Formats: sequence, structure tokens, C-alpha cells
Amino acid sequence: MSVPARPSARCRTFLLELSRYLDGDLSPARRRTVERHIKACACCEEMAARLRRTMAVCRAEAKRRTPRGVMLLAAKRIRALMAREGLQPVATRQRRRHASET
Ligand SMILES: [Zn+2]
Repeated sequence: MSVPARPSARCRTFLLELSRYLDGDLSPARRRTVERHIKACACCEEMAARLRRTMAVCRAEAKRRTPRGVMLLAAKRIRALMAREGLQPVATRQRRRHASET
């Protein structure tokens, strides 16, 4: 019977910091500690590689514009849902404020 590979308690603390590490959000000292651990630990190295790939895919997807047809269809469906629920569309002024948030 094979035992599933589970990260140790020590690794879990590193895994929690991994996304911050990949975003460059950690302090230089913490960054070095995480880097040293990743190089020495196969489990965390694998997780870091996977997370890096996932982040690259997400970034590439975020850059791509949603096709106009999809946007129109989504808007139509949202309007239909709102009408069904008896809700009013959000005012343009409020919508603009949300659009500037990225
Ligand atoms: Zn580890």
C-alpha cells in the first residue's frame, strides 16, 4: 500500500508563502529562506513549478480580451436574470467605478 505524499508541517508553512514568493511580495530575508527550502525540497519545488505554470496561464488569459460575442451574450443573460428577479440594472456611474478596478 502506497502512502500518499503529503507536505510536512514545515513544508505547509512554505507552501502558504509560495504565491507571495512568486509575486515578489516577501521580504528579502524571507525570500532567501523560501528559495533555499525550494531548492532542497522536492515537494515544494514541484509545487512552486506548478504554481508558476498556473500563474503564467492566468496572466496570459487575463491579457486576452473577452470576445465581443461572449460579452454581449453575457450581458443579455445577466439582464434576463435581473428582469426575472425584478432587479434594476446598475447605474452607469457605478459601473464605471467598478470598471477602473483591475
Ligand atoms: Zn518543502
